Amino acid sequence: MRAMRRLPVRPRTIQGSLLALIGFALVPVVVFGAYELVGEYREQREVEVGASADLARSLATAAEAFVLDLARAEYAAAVALAASAHTPAEIERELAMVSADLPGVRDLSWLDPRARVVASTEPQLVGKSLYARDYFQEISAGAVWRVSALVRSLVDGRPTFIVARGFRRSSGELVGVMTAAVDADAFGAILGRRSGSGATSICDSAGTVIAMSPPRPLDWAARRRPSEHRWVQRALAGQEALGVFRSPFTGERRIGAIVPVPSLGWAAQASRPFDDAMAPVRRAAVVNATVLLATALGALAGALLVARGISRPLSALETEAQRLARGGEPVLPVRGPMEVRRVARALQSMASGLAARRTELEAVNSRLARSEERFRLLAENAQDLVYRYRLLPTPGFEYVSPAATRIVGYTPEEHYANPALGMEYVHPDDRERLARVLAGAVDPAAPLALRCVRKDGTPIWLEQRSTVVRDGDGRVVAVEGIARDVTRVRSLQDERETLMQTVSHDLRTPLHVLVGHAQILMRKGDAEVRRRAEAILASAGRMTRLIGDLVDAARLEAGHVALRLEPMDLVAFLAGWKERMAGAFALERVRLEVRDPVPAVLADPARLDQIVGNLVSNALKYSLPDSEVQVTLSATPKTLRLSVADRGPGIAPEELSRLFERYYRTKSAAQAEGLGLGLFITRKLVEAHGWRIEVESEAGKGSVFTVVVPVTTGARASRSSAAA
Ligand code: ADP
Repeated sequence: MRAMRRLPVRPRTIQGSLLALIGFALVPVVVFGAYELVGEYREQREVEVGASADLARSLATAAEAFVLDLARAEYAAAVALAASAHTPAEIERELAMVSADLPGVRDLSWLDPRARVVASTEPQLVGKSLYARDYFQEISAGAVWRVSALVRSLVDGRPTFIVARGFRRSSGELVGVMTAAVDADAFGAILGRRSGSGATSICDSAGTVIAMSPPRPLDWAARRRPSEHRWVQRALAGQEALGVFRSPFTGERRIGAIVPVPSLGWAAQASRPFDDAMAPVRRAAVVNATVLLATALGALAGALLVARGISRPLSALETEAQRLARGGEPVLPVRGPMEVRRVARALQSMASGLAARRTELEAVNSRLARSEERFRLLAENAQDLVYRYRLLPTPGFEYVSPAATRIVGYTPEEHYANPALGMEYVHPDDRERLARVLAGAVDPAAPLALRCVRKDGTPIWLEQRSTVVRDGDGRVVAVEGIARDVTRVRSLQDERETLMQTVSHDLRTPLHVLVGHAQILMRKGDAEVRRRAEAILASAGRMTRLIGDLVDAARLEAGHVALRLEPMDLVAFLAGWKERMAGAFALERVRLEVRDPVPAVLADPARLDQIVGNLVSNALKYSLPDSEVQVTLSATPKTLRLSVADRGPGIAPEELSRLFERYYRTKSAAQAEGLGLGLFITRKLVEAHGWRIEVESEAGKGSVFTVVVPVTTGARASRSSAAA
């Protein structure tokens, strides 16, 4: 069979498949959950940033309003002061009154156009020049009002910023500048308090923190830290910065907004720690993930349970099947799902079927064993040598019965050890005949007589009968047979033949003398004497034939028949035979007929004379004196048939089978002269040629004796029989 190329596919287990299925089902759930979460996160972030931005913007507005309100109040006070001339003490009183209404203002001062403090609610400042201050420079240069960066208070060093407002005549000439120092911490009150962990702050144009909520103690270095921050710088440059940034103080991630306070050049900030802002989303994520995980674990556990519910009974089934395969007994059905139970039931019935078959097989086997045992017993105790000789794949004895030791002197073991032994103890002249049998070339129906030499050198005769064993293709794979020691029979036959020869010789000698004298009387005597001499000659002739038959039968019985085979044309032979026998038979009753062209056959002419003679003489003898005897020669592609038919009384069916036995005569033939040897001798001669003889007979109609000569194998068979 052609080997199929296949990609190596790893078989999947039920558990594996279920897990894969769950995996596939979970993927969209996880993806959707993650998508949702990202959406929530974005939304939360936007909401948070938006709220912070709104707050920062309103802070910016509040800071602007504070400063502008202050500037407006300063202007009102300046207008009041400018309305008439006042003494410094009067001014101070006026300033004190105004400042009391202004929240967060530490001190209020009135500067002359050269920046000298004319009057102040803070006595320490009076007389000081603030000319170098930026705000004064800018107002003097034309600005209406200005707010300073955060500075240390000249009085006590506390963080302060100044809101300055110039006052001019309608001509534009600067009359004076009103300044209000605002306490940064007090200003921080406008930031209010944001809920939760939210924080707000405001820084000045340099990025220094003015105030923050919730308030925290800051030294100056800390206050200046936001100035480095990119987002603060961006807001100071006039742009809003929204989103997540790092706190310049703690470094933590915050979410919120830093927006410009445009009119002041400051920045306002509102934010919350990122983690706090995102906590709800995170909580939702944790809850979602937990639910998902729990679902996945549940599904997994369920899948494992289901898979186990299937795979366990399956593996139990597998174990059972293996147990069955090893010859175990069928078992109770496995528990499990419907399908598995069905498989189990099928397995169960298969198992019962198998068990039944096994029982049958065991019964057959034990019968076989018993019959083998019987055969073995028979073979082991047989007087004859029983053997089986294997030819294929390698030649050798497969079985030799113990009788071998007694018969040929070699033990069965010696036979097993030497495959050629059976050939070696056969006489060299007989080996070829044995080889033909062993090669399966001949399937001998007739026993094969072989001369052999025992291990101790004694010559013996073995008579072998064998059959060949063929395989499915018709090849001969073994020969089985029985070899019998026929040495004793042979020697008896030899003795009998010697006796026969002697007797026939002793009988024939006086017969010759008798015939010789009778012939003289025939020539010399008178009519009466000749008639009597003729009777003597006829009896002597019959006697000679009887003696001849007896000798022949004895020889043929012993298998001592030598054929002188030659190719013969049977048509010519029959014509010649009729001529030669003219005096011996009433040949005018015999009719010859050749139906088909016949090929030449190998035969012994003298023996063929005898065969035809016997059949024709019987036909003449056992039919009415004037009836016809027909000798017919016909041929088919495979056989040649020589038949002798008479119109005699025929032979009873029950006697037909015994006709060719030695000394057998039918009841009706009892009157006729004969010994019952003619047909026996005829059969032996026919068989010696490798031919066969058949008889058909119908009571009252006559008998037909036919010699059947195989055309193709005739010559070979004749030769092999020649030596028998
Ligand atoms: P026999 O010497 O008695 O003729 P055979 O061996 O030739 O011996 O024949 C055996 C017996 O077969 C005969 O005795 C006879 O009974 C019977 N037989 C032989 N040939 C014929 C025949 N042509 N018709 C009837 N019976 C026959």
